[in-house]
Amino acid sequence: MDIRYRRPRGTRDVLLEEMERWRWCEERWREVLERYGFGEIRTPLIEPTDLFTRAVGSGTDIVDKEMYSFETKGGEQITLRPEATASVVRAYLENGLTRQPGTLKFYYLGPMFRYDRPQAGRYRQFHQVGVEAIGSPSPVLDAEVIRTALALFEAVDAEGLTVQVNTIGCPECRPGYVAELQAWARGRAEGFCETCRARLEINPLRLFDCKVESCRDLLGGMRPISEAVCGACRDHHAALRTSLAAMDVGATEDPSLVRGLDYYTRTTFEISARQDLRQSALCGGGRYDGLVEQCGGPPTPAVGFSLGVERTLRHLYPEEFDPQLSRQSPVDVYMACLGQPAMIHALAHAELLRGVCRVEVDTTGRGVKAQMKGAHARGARLVLIAGDDELAAGKFQMKDLNDGHQREVAGDGLLAAVREVLGS
Ligand code: AMP
Repeated sequence: MDIRYRRPRGTRDVLLEEMERWRWCEERWREVLERYGFGEIRTPLIEPTDLFTRAVGSGTDIVDKEMYSFETKGGEQITLRPEATASVVRAYLENGLTRQPGTLKFYYLGPMFRYDRPQAGRYRQFHQVGVEAIGSPSPVLDAEVIRTALALFEAVDAEGLTVQVNTIGCPECRPGYVAELQAWARGRAEGFCETCRARLEINPLRLFDCKVESCRDLLGGMRPISEAVCGACRDHHAALRTSLAAMDVGATEDPSLVRGLDYYTRTTFEISARQDLRQSALCGGGRYDGLVEQCGGPPTPAVGFSLGVERTLRHLYPEEFDPQLSRQSPVDVYMACLGQPAMIHALAHAELLRGVCRVEVDTTGRGVKAQMKGAHARGARLVLIAGDDELAAGKFQMKDLNDGHQREVAGDGLLAAVREVLGS
């Protein structure tokens, strides 16, 4: 076959069986998130480009290299969202929610777009489920948010995960450290890779993101930011540790966890799969106390995370993540029809049956044998056969595929007969 069109690089088709897994996860995640007090929010997939350049920050990979941005016919600068935190904050402000008392807790689920280099576990369109809790500065909330992320993994039976936490300070203490880091690294610039040399000038904290061995070794000589933060940040972090311990959450300190986005303050965290080092981060998040204000709102503390759906599914089903194909969705009743009038007869009765079970009407016009095969492939329990004779008598042949038993059923007794067998 001549396949004329292919999906864009770095995107995936989610087919039948895999789709069932997605739905299974999504259902569980919604349940958990609602139990933790989060309500769903859906924001547009497109936003003004400015929102991301400001919120995520220039000097980050997302803004500098990975955004799908374009100008509309009307001249607006638009970007396909690369992440959802900025959108949630925008929606929070635009809908006047700053006047709501207490902490507002949102969750979202949906596609994100990043023009990243595609590889296993890294896509250009991928999905995240995430939360944003807006309105409290408390480290207890940071701990609860981390616990929520773990609960999402537990809900889908993901195992072998570790939690890493760090503190990256606040506007009081971070600038001093960043200046110190920059001066220190400039003196050793030759020792760093090209990317790091650029980072060093634009966004020095991101030196810690580098995976190159020699850069990491070199950085070992500089104290990490967690050792340089102010007393208030230190207290915040200590209280986070205490709150996590109170919920029996074990977390490792990772002084190099600075995260790729500009808006984080104090707490950063990641949840990763121990065994799979490549693309092992399944979930990342942190506190972003300055973002609401930066987007034009009143000073408002907030914390959140996002979890990668594809990466989580790969972790759960490592052997069979990209399934070939794939059975069709299962049905309870399969209506095998011989000729168009019989199909119409079946279709009318299918409407009634669909009130209580899943029904497929075979409209292919193929032979009865092939239709029986189709019924087996769809996992049907009952086959209802309609041919000319049945049509004339207003009846169906009903075959139970469990025991092979076949009998004739009148059209007006069909619903009762099907319900009796299915117990529905
Ligand atoms: P981030 O928004 O970069 O903090 O990423 C949060 C999570 O989203 C990561 O831990 C990954 O699980 C997932 N993720 C980020 N980028 C990608 C990508 N390009 N492809 C697939 N998953 C991604």
